[in-house]
Amino acid sequence: MPDVLHYPRIELDRSLSAQQLKLLRIVAEAVGTRQMPLYLVGGFVRDLLLHIPATDFDLIVEGDAIALARALAAQYGGRVTAHVRFGTAQWFLPDPDGPALDFISTRSETYKNHGDLPTVKPSRLTDDLARRDFTINTLAIRIDGEHWGELRDDLDGLNDLERGLVRVLHSKSFLDDPTRLYRAVRYEQRYGFQIAPETLNLIPPALHLIASLSAERLRHELDLILEEEQAVAMLNRLAELDLLQPVHPALAWDDKKRERLINGLRRARDYPIKAVSFSAGKSFLKWHFWLMDLASTDINSLERRLHFHSKLFGSLLASSAMSIDFPSLAGLKPSQCVKRLEGLPLTAVYAVFLSVPDGEVRKNLHNYLETWRHIKPKTNGHDLKKRGLPPGPRYQQVLSRLRQARLDGEVKTEIEEMELLDILTKLV
Ligand code: ATP
Ligand code: MG
Repeated sequence: MPDVLHYPRIELDRSLSAQQLKLLRIVAEAVGTRQMPLYLVGGFVRDLLLHIPATDFDLIVEGDAIALARALAAQYGGRVTAHVRFGTAQWFLPDPDGPALDFISTRSETYKNHGDLPTVKPSRLTDDLARRDFTINTLAIRIDGEHWGELRDDLDGLNDLERGLVRVLHSKSFLDDPTRLYRAVRYEQRYGFQIAPETLNLIPPALHLIASLSAERLRHELDLILEEEQAVAMLNRLAELDLLQPVHPALAWDDKKRERLINGLRRARDYPIKAVSFSAGKSFLKWHFWLMDLASTDINSLERRLHFHSKLFGSLLASSAMSIDFPSLAGLKPSQCVKRLEGLPLTAVYAVFLSVPDGEVRKNLHNYLETWRHIKPKTNGHDLKKRGLPPGPRYQQVLSRLRQARLDGEVKTEIEEMELLDILTKLV
């Protein structure tokens, strides 16, 4: 009996967008002439079967992925970047707005020591699926030639997907790669699944290996978690499974932090501030809500474990300092607030604004973010020069005094500003 009858078929034509189909057909055709089995795998297949719109194709070929990507680029244009060591290639389509396609040669992975990065060797599909994290990520759909749409479920992933279970493939999985502990929680909470009971039992014996994970890998997993919509539920679960303390003792999660994160995100939706959200990224603010009540010594110590990006680190330190002395921002004139806040990262000011209770401080922070920081006098250095003021430190003093007057409402119009400027320049 031909292969094709052994496998159930997924109705790709009904599940994918016209653009996705067109692209896959092109790739499948190019492969068809080369006799290389080609599969969609991993997250794309998982989400497709869950009827969740999936965007990133994960494509693997039993054969030379780099040669395939190059052949496609030669025929259809675009360019290819290849990593010969890993047998992976990326094909950037000629359309600059179009997607980039990742091609991976099927490979097996073995771990010399627990927690090390794996040794990679070319292999068949089955071995490639066996190196993966959870059964729900091992489903593959073959798309070359007459195999279009065949579902490969070598490791019983469909069953777990239907039952909503996150299950590792073997009992040493978390020991081989403890980042999977965090990935398990992420998938469980993202889809409202459960970590399978046998898999849950494998967590405590792996906790001691979290210490051996590099800063980059660990932070990457935490970033991915914070980027998720269900970040709060994921943090709850991480704490419940004791997956935070082993990262660092300061990385606690409690009711106060949870409330700050939930309320902070809600307020961020109510008070979007363009310049800030733009630079904030998806996980950036959440890191603040989580850590801003820590002392700067703890943030410094966490930085040594997680190697935050310098921008995030600076902003976290500023938000920690502000969280302690924010009450002192009450009873100040606008110019005094500006003096205190200017020079601090906007993201820190924004995070504190979103976290402090309703009242004068909140109002001051809001005014600073929305209005005060933009208020400048009409006069500039050029005008002072025209007035014959000799260049020097006096320029700065005059301009700051004018700004202060503008901020505090002492001068409201250009004429009033000129009057004050007359007085100030006569004092020279
Ligand atoms: P997401 O929706 O989070 O992107 P994904 O399944 O696409 O989910 P990726 O991180 O993009 O996840 O990885 C692609 C595939 O690579 C996964 O489906 C999984 O099979 C495999 N994978 C990723 N990380 C690991 C890991 N640490 N151990 C084993 N397999 C992994
Ligand atoms: Mg993915």
